[in-house]
Amino acid sequence: MTKKERPDNRKLDEIRPMKMKAGVIKRADGSAQVEFGLTKVVAAVYGPRQIHPRHQEDATKSVLRCRYNMLPFSVSDRKRQGYDRRSTELAKVITEALEPALFLEEFPKTAIDVDMEIVQADAGTRAAAINAASLAIADAGIPMRDLVTSVAAGRANKELLLDMTKEEEDAEDAVDVPMAMMPRTGKITLLQMDGIVTPQDTEKIICLAEVGCKKIYEAQKKALLEKYGS
Ligand code: UDP
Repeated sequence: MTKKERPDNRKLDEIRPMKMKAGVIKRADGSAQVEFGLTKVVAAVYGPRQIHPRHQEDATKSVLRCRYNMLPFSVSDRKRQGYDRRSTELAKVITEALEPALFLEEFPKTAIDVDMEIVQADAGTRAAAINAASLAIADAGIPMRDLVTSVAAGRANKELLLDMTKEEEDAEDAVDVPMAMMPRTGKITLLQMDGIVTPQDTEKIICLAEVGCKKIYEAQKKALLEKYGS
């Protein structure tokens, strides 16, 4: 299965070339830039800090607030400025993907703010955003149970694939399964599916994503080591 090749000459189970760097925004408490091929995202983290508006305060835990935004020039049809239904949904699922890795109860009455800006999009932006956010949270020195690692797998042109490009996602039979996990325990914190697929292929797609997450985990740890040494 790994022998067949794709429009960009990747193997079916190969991730696009990855670039990861922690600490790219001077004024944030933590930050990171992550690239998967042409998909490029910057994440910045602030906190734990006093929460405004105060009515959002929770006496039992910190409130994790994620923002996902696609910049107007990130896609081929210039995108309208600002938030829409898609970015609101993505902020919600990304928050839920990151929360299990954090010790929010250790910082009551505060907020942890995570801003994710999609600089360039070629599919897989939610996964890239989760990887960048997780690195940025670690860069901010916020305690974590594990890094959260994410990739999408799926199907295009009758093949099961890892880390699809937009061209592949546009195939008639495309199935897109974004997944996030904490690799140390194998806990899955995000699993979505767009498209119709058999239970057998669903299992294979999840396995592909799991193997992909483990490779991404190594790249995330390398990015942290590059900044903080061994
Ligand atoms: N996309 C776009 N315009 C939009 C939203 C999405 O061109 O307003 C493209 C973009 O390349 C994105 C891809 O469609 O990465 C797939 O979007 P999806 O909602 O599946 O999320 P993603 O795969 O980026 O997590």
